[in-house]
Amino acid sequence: MTTDTATPDDFSALMAITHWPDVVFVRGEGSWLWDTTGKRYLDFIQGWAVNCLGHFPPQVANALAAQANTLLNCSPAYYNAPMVDYAQALTAAAGMERVFFANSGAEANEGAIKLARKWGSLHRDGAYEIITTVGGFHGRTLATMSASGKAAWDGLFEPKVPGFPKVPLNDLAAVEAAISDNTVAVMLEPVQGESGVWPAEDDYLTGLRALTEKHGILLILDEIQTGMARTGAMFAKEHTGVAPDIMTLGKGIGGGVPLAALLAREEICCFEPGDQGGTYNGNALMAAAGMAVLESLSAPGFLDHVNAASDHLRGGLEALSAQHGLGTVRGRGLLLALSLGTRMDSAELAARGLDAGLLLNAPAPDSLRFVPALNVSLGEIDDMLAILDGLLT
Ligand code: PLP
Repeated sequence: MTTDTATPDDFSALMAITHWPDVVFVRGEGSWLWDTTGKRYLDFIQGWAVNCLGHFPPQVANALAAQANTLLNCSPAYYNAPMVDYAQALTAAAGMERVFFANSGAEANEGAIKLARKWGSLHRDGAYEIITTVGGFHGRTLATMSASGKAAWDGLFEPKVPGFPKVPLNDLAAVEAAISDNTVAVMLEPVQGESGVWPAEDDYLTGLRALTEKHGILLILDEIQTGMARTGAMFAKEHTGVAPDIMTLGKGIGGGVPLAALLAREEICCFEPGDQGGTYNGNALMAAAGMAVLESLSAPGFLDHVNAASDHLRGGLEALSAQHGLGTVRGRGLLLALSLGTRMDSAELAARGLDAGLLLNAPAPDSLRFVPALNVSLGEIDDMLAILDGLLT
């Protein structure tokens, strides 16, 4: 594959919000990306678990094109048909009663925090604190950064938004000890993604549900990374049967376009007109994409493929680990991490992967994270393992 695209070389107009490598991508298809020089890369990051159907999924592209030719955004002050239909389909799939559509995971979580605080003001005597986890990640708005337990953000953008006491993950006693009259909710990811793929144990999640019920407080599951089939079930909550009061979705929900959702049980939905909104929220274009993604993920056999691909990837990573003296493989579905131990630095390995035509994510110095497209083929997993084997050797 070659491209005719000239490589841009003046990047000075962009705010320096990350360390961009010296590569400019121009095209994607499935598990593959091409840069301006025509070089092909196998993508096991997929926009940080965003492109659940890979690059350029035709069903999403077609839905977007058809909707773009019909109605983009009629203002959030009016119903639009795709938003209404998609709300019905998503709430039914998620087992939640109501949804508010947002444009990013952080915005959905910001809405979850607002909804919980409003509920606390109405039903728990003004309680507003939300217990969150050390290592948790909920976004980059000021409130969601404050809710996150990312050590690197300590001291940044102070003063942070108050009201987010942190507890270690998988320590139920710590949650109980942190609950006070000010507590309105507990909020966590079923698998901590950004901090390196650390699953909440099943017993811990069921224990949390019982504990939050006992204390009359809310359970908020941030399924922005784990939702939409990523862990081998449509939502990670299905692995335990834990029913949250509030759940947020993002990333895979739009198949690559900006879409997110705040879902809640009927009794919790206490927003009144004016409390929540935004000019792009529920726009017809993104709703059409969301519906196309949901239909694809719900197709017979789709989850079976995710689980088969997960087994294949896990088995291959475990074999590589045994061969190269590395650590364990953790995670669920196609959200997996390989512990490198102290043998090598993950960022350096990922940089060498890029040179070799493989996109790998290094969420922590001692771990690699694997979040391929959910429709990745077993052959592509073998290709990735072969390149990784070469890098480790
Ligand atoms: N919550 C979780 C669990 C995430 O993994 C992320 C993003 O990585 C977010 C929230 C924030 O989503 P966004 O980047 O779309 O704002």
